[in-house]
This record gives sequence, structure tokens and C-alpha cells, in this order.
Amino acid sequence: MPRRLAILGSTGSIGVQALDVVSRSGEDLNVVALSAASAWEQLLSQAREYGVRRIALSDQDAAARAGEAWTDGEVLAGADGLVRLITECECDMVLNAIVGSAGLVPTVATLGEGLDLALANKESLVVGGELVTQLAEATSAAIIPVDSEHSALYQLLASERPGTVDRLILTASGGPFRGRAAAELEDVTVEQALAHPTWEMGGKITIDSATLMNKGLELIEAHHLFGTPYEQIDVVVHPQSIVHSLIQLCDGATLAHLGYPDMRVPISYALHHPERVDVPVRPLDLVALGALTFEPVDEQTFACLRLAREAALAGGTAPCTLNAANEIAVHAFLAGRLRFTEIAAVIEETLAQLPAERVHSFESLGEADAHARRVAAELVADRAAA
Ligand code: NAD
Ligand code: MG
Repeated sequence: MPRRLAILGSTGSIGVQALDVVSRSGEDLNVVALSAASAWEQLLSQAREYGVRRIALSDQDAAARAGEAWTDGEVLAGADGLVRLITECECDMVLNAIVGSAGLVPTVATLGEGLDLALANKESLVVGGELVTQLAEATSAAIIPVDSEHSALYQLLASERPGTVDRLILTASGGPFRGRAAAELEDVTVEQALAHPTWEMGGKITIDSATLMNKGLELIEAHHLFGTPYEQIDVVVHPQSIVHSLIQLCDGATLAHLGYPDMRVPISYALHHPERVDVPVRPLDLVALGALTFEPVDEQTFACLRLAREAALAGGTAPCTLNAANEIAVHAFLAGRLRFTEIAAVIEETLAQLPAERVHSFESLGEADAHARRVAAELVADRAAA
């Protein structure tokens, strides 16, 4: 029997690559549901190509247009429509490739149904880590990471007994501004920030990679996925993006996961797990690479990583606030309303205005997210007016 798959955010960078993995999988994977925010024409063409009969569009207008244009299937609309898509599509696994904290509700809907989750949407774990992992435990649903570093760690940890792993080491490319001093970042343009040296990704995560917030989010993601205390997770800059992450063991051994940067590898791993299948990637040629280099992170210049670490340690609603402020600030930067260096400033001020509170429920996280967005948006507006 093929594995029945729902792909959320199928029109994005990860979603499109996931469909590529599916189309190479022969009979193993069968896509039964697709979703997007508003790109309804692209979503319809994906549905036709993959024989999908149910789609969801978060944007109501886009859903209405898709409904008029498509007579072969059902179009669900809005946030409720997305949840219905998950709970009614009779799938075995959901790939959540939505960007931002909008991915939390579908993550919860998936795990609540006891469905296995291939998780690209790291923001779900940043915002709701404790509750999300508790829910997965309660329903025995698996969370299989798609993020390349976490896929690497997941594979490395699979054969180790608990208690033998001393440290997790996340690698970071350093982004397009690696090696620059803070003053040299004042005037960077959107175009420069979008030019990632090793990975091609959606706009938001590409900016997160340039500020190093991405690594901050990944630190929190790793803590929740693997239950590892923060003081046992390190970050090292590795500009070639060949070593995807490492684990250090109690007997002095360190294990690493290597490969050319290509998201189809961790996507394929998550979608086929526990099987492995062929992915058409070049075999690693170490001699051609010649050298792999490593350097420390400059947390002074790239303040976002420090802010993420502080929010992680503060706990409660702090990571949710951090994430919401980051989404607002990155959006404003991409729209030309905020300077690159002001992204960290807006996040820091939002966190200062909203001290961490205990998280009682997913509803309280939704409120914290909305509150932080309002505060961050005001801070952006104040700066634009200044
Ligand atoms: P993207 O911007 O290319 O695509 C995002 C997708 O989410 C689109 O299909 C969009 O329609 C949908 N979407 C956006 N807002 C939505 C909303 N409010 N409600 C419902 N759907 C919405 O993003 P991406 O680069 O594919 O990244 C997706 C996720 O995967 C992010 O969490 C990112 O951090 C993570 N990730 C991406 C990569 C990568 O290589 N692109 C690598 C690791 C992790
Ligand atoms: Mg990553």
C-alpha cells in the first residue's frame, strides 16, 4: 500500500521539492491533499498533475476563485479549511511545509489525529515546543524533521542509547554576511540578504539565515525534537554546508552527517522513513572539495542568535514572542520598511516589552503570538516614522 500524504505549503520551496521527491517515488507515495496560502493557480495545476481531489487555500478570495475554476475536486477555505483538510483526508502522513507560526495549528491538528508529521515548519516547535511534543507523545504520532540539520541529528541519534550523547553540534553556513562587522551590515539591501551562498529557499528563511535567526530557531527546534538541554547544544559556522550536523558521544567519538546541500535528501528521508530510497544527487567527492572549514559564531554581530538563546532559556511565551517579532521584522525588511540591523533591534525591544509568561494552552500561545505581532508592528512603524 502506498503511503498517503498531505503536503501543506506545497507551492513553496520545500513543497515543490517534496512533489519532486513524490514523482520519483513510483508507487510508494500517493499525494491526497495539498494546500497553500493564496497561490491558487499553481495549487490547482499541482492538484491536476498529482491527481489530488482536495485542496485548501488559507486566503478566502483565492479559495473562491479556485472553487470556480475547478470542478474535479473540493476546495476548502481559511484556517478551518486547512484543519478539515488534515482531519478528513484519510492520510498516513502530513508534510508541514508552511512558513511561520501559521504552521502551528496544522501541526497540532496532525498530531492530534495521531498522524505522523514530516516537519519542515520549525516555527511550530519554536512557538509551541513543549505542548507540541507532549501532544505527539500522547497520540503516539512521530515527528520526523525535514530541516537538514535536524534530519542529520535524527539519523545520527537513531542508533545511540539515551545517556551516551554528550552534545549536539548544529552547523550554520554563516549566510551571505559571514565575516562582516556590525557596521558593515547597516546598509545591506534586500537583494544582498536574499543571496544565500549555499541553499536556495523561501524568502523568510533566507533572511533568517542572513541574520542567523534561523540558527536560533533551529537551536530551539533541536531542544524540543531531541529533549536535549540548551547547554548541550552548540553552533559552529561551516561555510561549505557539507557537514549537516554532528553528535558527540561519551566515549570520545564524534559522528557527522555529510552531503551536498540539497533539501530533497532530508525530505525524501522524512517521507520514506524508515525506508531509504534513491535520490538523484551527486555522490560526495571529498577530494574535489579539498577542505571543510569551521569557525565560531559572531553573536555580537549577529545578535539574533543571542536573542534566540536568551528567549529559549527564559522559556514560556518568550520563544513565541521572539518568533512573532521576527516574522514582523523580516516582513518589514523585505518590504523595504526596516533596515537589516533593525530586525534584531525590533525583536529585542518586543521581548523587553513582553516578559515571558507561562504557557497554559495552545490558545494562550495564539494570544501571545498576536500580542507580540502588534507590539513589533508598532516598533516598526515608529522606526519608519523616525
Ligand atoms: P516558502 O515561503 O517558499 O513557502 C511557504 C508555503 O507556505 C507556501 O506554499 C505558502 O503558500 C504557504 N503559506 C504561507 N503562509 C501561509 C499561511 N498563513 N497559511 C497557510 N499557508 C501558508 O517557504 P519554504 O522556504 O518552503 O519554507 C517552509 C518551511 O520550511 C519554513 O518553516 C522554513 O523555515 C522551513 N525550511 C525550509 C527550508 C528550505 O530549504 N526552503 C529548509 C529548512 C527548513
Ligand atoms: Mg536548517
